[in-house]
Amino acid sequence: MKLITNVDFTKEEFDKRLRYKTEPVKHVTTKFQDVALELLKAMYSLNAIGLAANQVGLKISLCVLDPAFMLNKKMPIVMFNPQVVEHGEELYISPEGCLSLPELGIRVPRFRKVVVNYLGIDGKEHTIKDDNSLLASVLQHEIDHLSGVLMVDRLPEKQEVNYKDHIIVEGD
Ligand SMILES: [Zn+2]
Repeated sequence: MKLITNVDFTKEEFDKRLRYKTEPVKHVTTKFQDVALELLKAMYSLNAIGLAANQVGLKISLCVLDPAFMLNKKMPIVMFNPQVVEHGEELYISPEGCLSLPELGIRVPRFRKVVVNYLGIDGKEHTIKDDNSLLASVLQHEIDHLSGVLMVDRLPEKQEVNYKDHIIVEGD
């Protein structure tokens, strides 16, 4: 699995690979389970707490996350077709980075409280609720990826991703 970043690709190629809506999975077959496990392995090897399938060139609606990895624990979550089905109105400022934009650290407004529905690796429907923890922002960040949305798109003022100069953008 090769990670797609703005360092390795031109703007055109980067956008083509990351800015599209991924395809939902109808059934979680063993093939998809294998892909999910591969994606998890890739995430851990990149020392990350979240990774979306299109970041490694797969066009399926799949992301993996594990905020507990920040605390040297492993509590992996595999999500097929994840969707934010409910959120509170209150926003908070989440400090974020992205594997696909490795030179960038920004402060992104996110919902404090979200409810997400998804299919698990067991093929069954699950709901996850989070209120006021890192998980809420990781969920929103990864689910955005699956619709071709990047963290820079969530800034109050439009910021152009810098593809070659790697300028750090600081939002409020
Ligand atoms: Zn990202």
